[in-house]
Amino acid sequence: MTSNATRVLVLNSGSSSLKYQLLDMADGARLAAGLVERIGEETSRLAHTPLASGGDKRERTGPIADHDAALQAVAEELAADGLGLDSPELAAIGHRVVHGGSEFTAPTLITDEVVAEIERLIPVAPLHNPANITGIRTATHLRPDLPQVAVFDTAFHTTMPESAARYAIDTETADAHMIRRYGFHGTSHAYVSRETAKLLGKAPEEVNVIVLHLGNGASASAVKGGRCVDTSMGLTPLEGLVMGTRSGDLDPAVLLHLSRNAGMSVDEIDSLLNKKSGLIGLCGDNDMREIRRRIDEGDERAALAFDIYVHRLKKYIGAYYAVLGKVDAVAFTAGVGENAAPVREAAVAGLEELGLVVDAGLNEIRSGEPRLISPEYARVAVAVVPTDEELEIATQTYALVSS
Ligand code: AMP
Repeated sequence: MTSNATRVLVLNSGSSSLKYQLLDMADGARLAAGLVERIGEETSRLAHTPLASGGDKRERTGPIADHDAALQAVAEELAADGLGLDSPELAAIGHRVVHGGSEFTAPTLITDEVVAEIERLIPVAPLHNPANITGIRTATHLRPDLPQVAVFDTAFHTTMPESAARYAIDTETADAHMIRRYGFHGTSHAYVSRETAKLLGKAPEEVNVIVLHLGNGASASAVKGGRCVDTSMGLTPLEGLVMGTRSGDLDPAVLLHLSRNAGMSVDEIDSLLNKKSGLIGLCGDNDMREIRRRIDEGDERAALAFDIYVHRLKKYIGAYYAVLGKVDAVAFTAGVGENAAPVREAAVAGLEELGLVVDAGLNEIRSGEPRLISPEYARVAVAVVPTDEELEIATQTYALVSS
């Protein structure tokens, strides 16, 4: 790597999509960003924003056969901006990989063995890991000489103690099938917990933070001195909080009941719990803006969905308060956490005895910056800290290849 190689391309591959950002780690500047969607269909679409030049968003539509063709199209768009992937300034490609099991505790330079290990984890991440592997193969194909780094969604949570990571089921059965709690959204929890410490003017080692990542998928984590000690997602991203379309926690016997008494197949139950539950299952909408609008119009189903969402959130705040013993900050992040003031207000309401208070005026302020929404006298800081998973992936990738 040459000393002026400071750019990192971040790739997030889905089964039919490819999201990307090109960052310059010399100053953290975002040079370009975009998305290819509906890969493999007639109606594929590439949307590219040349951020460095401040130019207009460009779109291409028409068939893009596979991920190789998608990355080739992205490379052409970048080259048109003078940011080609053959540039000596490109230091590495950082890949978001959803499941790294217990093995991958840190960003990892990709080798054939690493890809084989990510493949071995497919049974616990059947939707995500195959797509991530496709992204890795595609990028390796395009730039075989360039370091490729895997940044795992699960890595930040590998510090959880066994008491939090194990389910109370037969140990042999659990181990034989890799059944344990892994947690997800790890790059976000890592980034937001660190940024929260920064907002408090402290080092990450000095503070205990409850991070609430509330997007369409949602998860909470308890972070003690910079290390995750518990998180709400488990073997898969289905456990924990009420989400846009996922149920979160429920009695496991519900599955047995649905199978025995409703005659539902495994795939039908999977689809019910992952795609037709959570907010959408409760009220028909998974967008918090729409739910708030309906509540304002007096819609009772939307109001109940909101209450169930907030009740679960509050339970996790209490649980993680107990796990941590002492809490310095509660940080809200992601689409709902960063934008929905009513969710933040309701989640913390009634927790004054725990030192948690939200200032109504501060809570209403809209901003893209990390900020406190608790009054100065509050014992526990309540913060809104915008997440930035791409920057975190690029930072971890660059740190590995430049060390
Ligand atoms: P994410 O997965 O982090 O992109 O979050 C997406 C979700 O954030 C959407 O489904 C909405 O529920 C929520 N969201 C985005 N913008 C707003 C907003 N301005 N107010 C309330 N909720 C929002």
